[in-house]
Amino acid sequence: MKNLTILGSTGSIGVSTLEVVAAHPDKFRVVALTAGSNLELLQQQIEAFKPDLVSVLTAEKAKTLSRSLSGKKPQIMYGVEGLIAAATAAESNMVVAAIVGAAGLIPTAAAIMAGKDVALANKETLVTAGHLIMKMVRDKGVRLYPVDSEHCAVFQSMAGHRCEDIARVILTASGGPFLHWGLEQLRNATVTDALNHPNWSMGKKITVDSATMMNKGLEVIEARWLFDIPVERIAVNVHPQSIVHSMVEYIDGSVMAQLGVPDMKGPIAYALTYPCRVASGVKALDLTALSGLTFLKPDTDRFPALRLAYEASNAGESMPAVMNAANEIAVESFLAGKIGFMAIAEAIEKVMNLHTPHALHSIEEVLEADRWGRRTAREVLGVSE
Ligand code: NAD
Ligand code: MG
Repeated sequence: MKNLTILGSTGSIGVSTLEVVAAHPDKFRVVALTAGSNLELLQQQIEAFKPDLVSVLTAEKAKTLSRSLSGKKPQIMYGVEGLIAAATAAESNMVVAAIVGAAGLIPTAAAIMAGKDVALANKETLVTAGHLIMKMVRDKGVRLYPVDSEHCAVFQSMAGHRCEDIARVILTASGGPFLHWGLEQLRNATVTDALNHPNWSMGKKITVDSATMMNKGLEVIEARWLFDIPVERIAVNVHPQSIVHSMVEYIDGSVMAQLGVPDMKGPIAYALTYPCRVASGVKALDLTALSGLTFLKPDTDRFPALRLAYEASNAGESMPAVMNAANEIAVESFLAGKIGFMAIAEAIEKVMNLHTPHALHSIEEVLEADRWGRRTAREVLGVSE
């Protein structure tokens, strides 16, 4: 029996995680749930999974939730304190980190420090603080299981192999909704266009990241930390069908890949039950029903965010945290209709050019770099909080 905390239970990954959990009541118990604003869904989850502890964004939301619950209520907390309490709950032995953005960093770090294994969806944690997080993982002797489908594929493709025999990691990217759009069209892309992802149904922020290909850039940095491989040996192939979830090339020329129907319940189930497998609810893959599997080189002229992520990783130190913060503000501004689609990468590049990277020795210093990146991005974009 695994006792789970799910951080971000009302999001796309959170909901898929609870679908896997619901299918295996003999294997999982939900100890704690945290959510942002969707109290209605959280209430349904509380009724279905009966956690001991829940946390929401604010004191006001905690009050509203408490009033709407009847019968035996869980402990209701809020804010960062609530997130940390959920992440470190004594009974929990695995934390699913599925909050979006750098907001996931503090509770994920707290979970590791409390000795919990982590199923990591929140890639921004490794992008902003990879060196600190991986050290904590080693020091605490906990396991960090990737939920990101590409990293789960790499993890599976590495099983039984020696790390020193790896030549390259090849992450696949769908290319998003704008794969074949020209630069002029991209300048006029609307929020609706960007949210129309061809293969995956996800939260808004990551869907826009997929459209700019910043998502793949974040994933390159995530892979760099998870697998301790320099970014020069992490390649990206655009693979519009999203069937090959990623690959590992070995020094003898062999390439191992993991394939499946694109559905996050697959990687989530694997992270929750490693090294065993359970029925995840993912449909069986019928390769004969596909018209083909294609692979292309990414175009960093139309998708400069991918180039920026490699540059940020090469600059190192505080640069990836600043890049990530600038991206969060630019995506938020795009979603609010304040800036155009191509302005997202332009703003990130300007913020990076204004930043001199410095070493980050603690999570607090990472958060300081994150705040600098957010402030500078708002200035560059001329938007207020
Ligand atoms: P989402 O927007 O659907 O859900 C995010 C969750 O986090 C929600 O429960 C929300 O209430 C909560 N949240 C948001 N801001 C918060 C804050 N400041 N404090 C506390 N809680 C907050 O996002 P998602 O698509 O589920 O993605 C979650 C994470 O998983 C992201 O880091 C994303 O990059 C990663 N990921 C997602 C997918 C996917 O298929 N959705 C795939 C791979 C990786
Ligand atoms: Mg991914």
